[in-house]
Amino acid sequence: MSGKKHTVILAFLPVFLFLFNLPGLSQDHPYLLDKELLDIIQNEVSGERAWDMMSKISRFHRIRGGGDGSDYNRCVEFLAKELKALGIKDVLIKKYKADGFKKYFLWPSLVGWRVKEAELWMVKPRKKLIARFSNQAVSLMPYSQGAEVESEVIFVGQGKSDSDYQGKKVQGKLVFAVGGNGSAVHRQAVLKRGAVGVIVGPSDREDRLEFPDLIEVSRLSPTGEERAKTGFGFALSRRQQKELLSLFESGESVVMRARVDAELFDGDMPVLEAKIIGKDYPEQEIILMGHLDHYKPGANDNASGSAGLFEMVRNILALIEKGDIPPLKRTLRFLWLPEMHGAAAYLTEHQDLKEKGICGMNLDMIGEDYVLCRSNFNLFCSPYSVPGYIDDVLVNFLRWLEGRAFFSPRGSKHRFNFRVWPYSGGSDHVLFNDSTFSIPTPMLGHGDVFHHTNMDTPDKCDPTEMKRIISLALAATLCVANADEEDALEIACEVHSQAHSRMTTRTEKSVRLLHQYASDPQRKKDFAEVHANVLNYPRLQALIEGENIQETKELCRNKVSQEMIHKLAEDLIKQADREKEKIDSMVKIFIQRYGLKSENFRQGREYMEASRLRPKRLFKGPLPWNAMNERLDAQSLAWYETNQAKAGGNYGSKTYEIVNLMDGKRTLLDIRHIVSCEYDETGVEFVLHYAKDLEKIGLVSFE
Ligand SMILES: [Zn+2]
Repeated sequence: MSGKKHTVILAFLPVFLFLFNLPGLSQDHPYLLDKELLDIIQNEVSGERAWDMMSKISRFHRIRGGGDGSDYNRCVEFLAKELKALGIKDVLIKKYKADGFKKYFLWPSLVGWRVKEAELWMVKPRKKLIARFSNQAVSLMPYSQGAEVESEVIFVGQGKSDSDYQGKKVQGKLVFAVGGNGSAVHRQAVLKRGAVGVIVGPSDREDRLEFPDLIEVSRLSPTGEERAKTGFGFALSRRQQKELLSLFESGESVVMRARVDAELFDGDMPVLEAKIIGKDYPEQEIILMGHLDHYKPGANDNASGSAGLFEMVRNILALIEKGDIPPLKRTLRFLWLPEMHGAAAYLTEHQDLKEKGICGMNLDMIGEDYVLCRSNFNLFCSPYSVPGYIDDVLVNFLRWLEGRAFFSPRGSKHRFNFRVWPYSGGSDHVLFNDSTFSIPTPMLGHGDVFHHTNMDTPDKCDPTEMKRIISLALAATLCVANADEEDALEIACEVHSQAHSRMTTRTEKSVRLLHQYASDPQRKKDFAEVHANVLNYPRLQALIEGENIQETKELCRNKVSQEMIHKLAEDLIKQADREKEKIDSMVKIFIQRYGLKSENFRQGREYMEASRLRPKRLFKGPLPWNAMNERLDAQSLAWYETNQAKAGGNYGSKTYEIVNLMDGKRTLLDIRHIVSCEYDETGVEFVLHYAKDLEKIGLVSFE
């Protein structure tokens, strides 16, 4: 036994020695691609050219429920033509029915929508133009139905709850509300009470108060059944809201006339797909995506990401043509998507991507000028439930972007400013990371004060930042697409090294938490429970990080390399033991310092139950936001409102992860530990309750 072990170690010795001499891992060049190739990428990517394409896309009003005669479809056709002009052969437009009835997984399709013009005039007490679609597209709420009406305007306060409508007759009238969320006001006033249309001012978001002319987009959400009675909505700026409100406050009666030339119809959601087929391993695909929609202008969200993908296609074709890079070993699939609903439709038809897709990247809002948009770059990693290495490949290149060489002639001279975050949803990567597909897909994006407003204009989009983020995505793409045996080992070592520091960081977090509990008289009683829980995390994390390392095996064929990757993964278990020791020795110090009783935590009924139940999901695709609302009764739903705190923080991401981890093998307690390790402490009661509710509505079974 021991003799055999020795030969194994000896067999690995040359590999390990070789590892320390890997050119890419030297101190002055710590990147996964060599300097020459990184320079080539930096020279090839043009922030100016990408900006130019962004501004062209931003001229279309890209509402994702499209169809013939819609600007969304026109934009798709424009981009397909531009792609073909680049000389890429595999370009396809795939159309998916959008009538509001058809479902893709659990996601209802949107409704086709086209619009020509819309105007809102005040008639009394004086004549004044309030809104015109061709002036500012977002002043008409997307999915508004065609109409021509003149009516008294009824003020309903916030207009989102029943009490706002008490004693007010709104049927057949126009309704005015303040405080944003036009879609919720529309549901109350038009769909529930028969008003003809709504006029809604902006939300009170603190960071937007300084922009009096900012108009927030309010998208109506009619289902197939509601199409005929949808009516329409107009959105106002804060300045306009104030002016209109003052009329009501002085007791004036207000009459307005609306004319909307628009139509809800059986449309489609077109997905634009382009492929560069790999030469050696065509069946292994990297999926690069961005949502092409939003309202006009939607410059950063997401003309920037769409243009970024286009620039990447152009760069790769040019680099291959010039002989700067060899033809790609693996396939790239580029997708311009109608966000979420269109991605669900596309994936329903392409379930083979579960096998083919080795990783993905979602480019969503990649060009923000930091100062104008009060912003920075955010990398949202793929979730713990989906093992992979792409996050660490991206992180490896972040420091490379700090150089001044990325400054574009017309771009800003801001230094690169970035953060790395755990998984968070909100865009198409949600569908690819879902365990139906398990394609590790991080999101590359920015926070942005102008997100979903009329002020998301091309001038807020920075050629320098576009150049940086496109270069980042391109470097990571080429790294994986052309990885050979050596590269696979380098990537595995990179994941191993980042995993090491993540495990240390997690222990620091656990120790800080324990200190908070030990030192707080109110929370002292739960110290033993928290201690028992956090002791699970080092080993759990080692296993998860180990799987991330193991995934790099798909990039190499050589048995010796694969064995080495396996060893790297196993090595983390040793670190787990060390992390556990660190926690225990700190606990001893806390017990002594705060006079705590040294006692073992005794698991109560909920822990016992959670350790028995092994949930298995019975549905494909992620849960849409309203899935629970549609299926649970009001009393069951109320539990979530009053008990949200039991989930800890990150409510949306945790519920996503809980579902993703339901494989019929893990217990609910395992799942509770994983999401707590990934985010923060999660009440076992919450996890139990959530899983039982999903079982009640037939979405989950217990093994
Ligand atoms: Zn977006």
